[in-house]
Formats: sequence, C-alpha cells, structure tokens
Amino acid sequence: MRPPYLLLDIDGVLIPFPEADGSTPATHARHDVVPTGRSADNPVTVWLDPTHGPMLMDVIRTGLVTPAWCTSWRQDATTLIGPLLGLPSLPHVDLPHPQITTSHPNGYLWKRDHVDAWLGDAPAVWIDDDFTSLDHAWAEERTTRGAATLLIQPAPRAGLQAAHVAETRAWAARLLSARSAVAPDPNQAEAA
Ligand SMILES: [Mg+2]
Repeated sequence: MRPPYLLLDIDGVLIPFPEADGSTPATHARHDVVPTGRSADNPVTVWLDPTHGPMLMDVIRTGLVTPAWCTSWRQDATTLIGPLLGLPSLPHVDLPHPQITTSHPNGYLWKRDHVDAWLGDAPAVWIDDDFTSLDHAWAEERTTRGAATLLIQPAPRAGLQAAHVAETRAWAARLLSARSAVAPDPNQAEAA
C-alpha cells in the first residue's frame, strides 16, 4: 500500500520569516546559499533549525510517508537546503515560475493547481504556511472523494514545530492502518 505524500514547503516552514525588527528564532542558524541563476558573489542568507533534519528523518524513516519538496526553491530545495539539514535527496514538485504579485492570485495558494495535477488521486499531507480557506475546502473535498488530504499550516514567523511533525506521523499511521483494515483479504477472496 502506497504511503501518502508528505509535501514540504521551505519559506515560512523551514526558513521562518523574520520579525519586523529582522530577528529570527534563536533556534535557527545562519547559512549563505547561492540559488540557481544567481552569481556566487550574490548569495542569499537563510536561517535553518538544525533539529528539523533529524525531526523530519524520524518520520521519513518510518516509511509512513513519501516525502517531496513543494516550494519555490524547486530543485534548489534538494541541492541547497536539504543537505544543510542532513536530508537525503528528495523529489520535488516541478512548480512553474508564474508572473504573480500575490501568493493567492485566485484566492488560493498558487501552487495548488500544480499540486492537484501532480498528486492525481494520491493521499497527501501538505505542510505550507500560506493556505487560505479555499485550500482547506479543497483538502476537505479531496478527502471526501477518497484522496485523504491533511493541510498543516505553521505560523510563518515560527515555522515548523515538533507538533506538526508528530501530527503528520499520527495522521499517516491512522490512514495506513484504516486502509489495511478495509483492504480485501486475498484468502477470503480465493475461498469465495
Ligand atoms: Mg511558504
């Protein structure tokens, strides 16, 4: 039985947004990275919590989820950000580069239509700081038609918390045990 996807955002989740005074949580360490398309003398400063890597690996190692990046860092999530947290190479949702001035051009998260197509009917837990009520309605609608969907929305200035990862793990474990409970017993099918 295929585990649900775990879609992971970066900005506002692994990299918290700074407070008005520019400060970031004391838990986070500074790194300078050079995203694709930028020159080496023009790096971007990011702040990462070194405990996030082991925290995520704890749930990834259970095999309860299939992790994938879902972030405007795109491929750089795997090549730049993941390694700084000790994460293995993970696939990413290939998001386009839309010319938008808001993350909710149609009232919902701009990534969602791409995620919807990418997921097909697969169940998913999606961690992003930027959902609107329309995204939560979309998740309920998917769940109703059998593609269980959980949206987890960290506060963007605090980012990912241990409770979010625990919720991810508990939800995936419940989903997989519920699915195996309703799966037809092959022996019974043969006897019939
Ligand atoms: Mg974000």
